[in-house]
Amino acid sequence: MTATRRSGKKTSSAKTSNSTDNIFAQFDVSVEDFKASIVKHLHVTVGTDENKASSQAWWNATCAAVNELVFERVTRTQKTHYQKDTRAVHYFSLEFLMGRFLKNNLTNVGLTEIAEQALNELGIDFNHVCEEEPDMALGNGGLGRLAACFVDSLATLNYPAIGYGIHYEHGLFTQEIQHGRQVERPDSWREYGNPWEICRPESIQEIPLYGYVETKYDDAGKIQKEWHPGRIIKGVPWDIPVVGYGANTVNILRLWESRASNFFNWDVFNAGGYLDAQVENVQAETISKVLYPNDNTDAGKELRLIQQYFFCACSIKDIIRRYKRAHGNDWSKFVEQVVIQLNDTHPAIAIPELMRILIDRVELDWDTAWGMCQQIFAYTNHTLLPEALEKWSVRLFEKVLPRHLEIIYEINSRFLENIVEQHFPDNDEIKRKLSIIEEGSEKMVRMGNLSVIGSFKVNGVAQIHSKLVKSDLFPEFDQIWPDKFTNVTNGVTPRRWLKSCNPRLAGLISEYVDLDWPVHLDKLQALKSLAEDKQFADKYMQIKLENKQDLAAVIKELTDIEVDPNALFDIQIKRLHEYKRQQLNLIHIMALYRRLLQNPDYDMPKRVFIFGAKAAPGYYMAKEIIYAINKIADKINHDERIKDKLKVVFLPNYRVSLAEKMIPAADVSEQISLAGKEASGTGNMKLALNGAITIGTLDGANIEIAEEAGDDNVVIFGLDVDQVKELKNQGYNPWDYYYANAEIKAVLDWFDTDYFTPGKPGELAEIKRNLLDYGDNYLTLADFESYSDAHKKIDALYQDKAKWAKMAIINTATMGKFNSDRSIQDYVNNIWSLGECNIG
Ligand SMILES: *Cc1c(COP(=O)(O)O)cnc(C)c1O
Repeated sequence: MTATRRSGKKTSSAKTSNSTDNIFAQFDVSVEDFKASIVKHLHVTVGTDENKASSQAWWNATCAAVNELVFERVTRTQKTHYQKDTRAVHYFSLEFLMGRFLKNNLTNVGLTEIAEQALNELGIDFNHVCEEEPDMALGNGGLGRLAACFVDSLATLNYPAIGYGIHYEHGLFTQEIQHGRQVERPDSWREYGNPWEICRPESIQEIPLYGYVETKYDDAGKIQKEWHPGRIIKGVPWDIPVVGYGANTVNILRLWESRASNFFNWDVFNAGGYLDAQVENVQAETISKVLYPNDNTDAGKELRLIQQYFFCACSIKDIIRRYKRAHGNDWSKFVEQVVIQLNDTHPAIAIPELMRILIDRVELDWDTAWGMCQQIFAYTNHTLLPEALEKWSVRLFEKVLPRHLEIIYEINSRFLENIVEQHFPDNDEIKRKLSIIEEGSEKMVRMGNLSVIGSFKVNGVAQIHSKLVKSDLFPEFDQIWPDKFTNVTNGVTPRRWLKSCNPRLAGLISEYVDLDWPVHLDKLQALKSLAEDKQFADKYMQIKLENKQDLAAVIKELTDIEVDPNALFDIQIKRLHEYKRQQLNLIHIMALYRRLLQNPDYDMPKRVFIFGAKAAPGYYMAKEIIYAINKIADKINHDERIKDKLKVVFLPNYRVSLAEKMIPAADVSEQISLAGKEASGTGNMKLALNGAITIGTLDGANIEIAEEAGDDNVVIFGLDVDQVKELKNQGYNPWDYYYANAEIKAVLDWFDTDYFTPGKPGELAEIKRNLLDYGDNYLTLADFESYSDAHKKIDALYQDKAKWAKMAIINTATMGKFNSDRSIQDYVNNIWSLGECNIG
């Protein structure tokens, strides 16, 4: 199949998709063309035929048909960037939560309908084929999904960009629920191959680890450092095409896989140590074996530090190799060509690594090298949670990366002596606080401080978060460098999170709004004037109902629970974390249940509460909360007395592809973190864009969502950041709320009984203890009453169908700000200074 420039005359009578939207002009592919391509690939790529092909074979063949169009654009994009010698952003991230590619890539080349019809004519169901694709889940949650949305937007906006990360063999674990408890199973997303990736053995890198540093002097008496590594690891790059919407630019995501270096094991091998050599192989390959499953916590493990260094070192060598191909040994243009964005502190080791190369290898002097680094790196902070701030023990650092530790000490002493001393003379307390090295019984390297000192910009991810980064996390750094700190509010790609996941709503929007709304999301504002148009509202709510019917079928299939699509669907989907407060949602559900038991006529619309959440495998309380949700759901769902007024569903294995099915069906979006704890949130944006009403605290991007949608179209509750601080200062005592509110007391006491765990009293008691004896760190009880009132408000609003439709429509209409193209444009304008590059 060849994609030709669209001529005046169609090559086939079949309708070309999006024929009115000339952004797809380059792919003039008819249904007949696409059918022929799929069949060809079934034969020549998959090695089967139409009669024997499994769904998986059809999926593979369809992917190959898409790749036939895409791969050529990858080459053309790279060639153009090289020829024009463009400045590029290098997005360093330990996580890329990409999800599935087939539907997304078809959306972005404008061939969804063509592919659907082609498969249909071959007697194959398109959605069934899409379901064959395993999610590429190389991330935990919001941080990894942000990286995925950003590479989509970078390609869509035609910016030269590359995502760098790790090619994990096993992504985030899959979650099963057994007897109510989470059980983790390994994720093997590419066990049977991955049609979207291309191995690039010509760009392999070798990475040193361990060993010692030798101090030498050259002929002029100048000090020289030589690192004698104890190990060399091979990094093999895999490239995944990132197709921009309209597919002008196809950038790549380059992920590194670790292998044993061939030459290094020969000594051991020749000495007869075959098994020892094998052990080294296994250790080398362990580096990219598995993604750490912690979200917002730092485990401090040696292997994790090695993962971080491994992919940063591979990526920096790759950047330098590409630069040298264009500029030889002339380093004067390096800072003009290269900007590196650090997605959290995870890749901060890239800073001393670039210093090491510039000093030890290129032999630049310290000031020149440091001056370059400080023009190259920018750092995105993703959290204020103390348990998530990365620290490595100096002892571990010295063992794994002895030369980098020396460089960090040098960066630190120059910073403390030259800069801190100047701003805060003779102030040892501030020096201690700003030092990269934390003193104490075990000395630690603070990666946050290193990132701030080594970067020219530091950004938070929502307005309030960026403000708190300055005022609470890095106040002295902000005094030293007031221009360094900035905000870039997160966003999500509307291609995946509206057009592709909610085709019904996308279709309706396209009837009323310019067809280029997926790249100009502000155009959804036009829907505002239709919010009270009865005909439009009916269509909009009919679509919501159909999406809920689809989700009800998914719920039935995954859990065997029957839910009524006419009930209010209230959805909380995100990692399970105490700060996100799934426990607040749960105790409120228990309170509703109790009200219904006490008064069967309790006035409330039929409600279905739906959860999706993975807990880190080592996070005890999070797993207890999952167990409690499931046990309480089981009791409520089978209680004849309240029958259908209340249902509770925990959908197992929450991930991108499940989110795509849940989000279009949500009436209410739960965004109930304790104020000050959620940096931004992006699930909140996806849900609001798809017409869910937010019930939320004044935290992260909720504040900006409320600003855009208007206070009447979101339901805000709870303490704000200042009130949280005040209450904590005062000395928060959860028992006060327990004794003051009979409903809270009754609900918490329920956990001590065997009401939800027959024959096993107290099985859920740890949750009560956590909320009382252990201090309720996230002020769940303090916010309960306000949360309960907010839900009463939701109930009342939902009874008024016209009012509800209006609110939902206004939410869709006003979420334009939260598209990731806007975020990327903010980075470009305020941090990266990139130019667009049309590929032609
Ligand atoms: C968007 C997304 C997240 C982030 O959700 P928050 O509610 O912002 O924490 C996590 N996981 C998946 C699969 C997502 O798609």
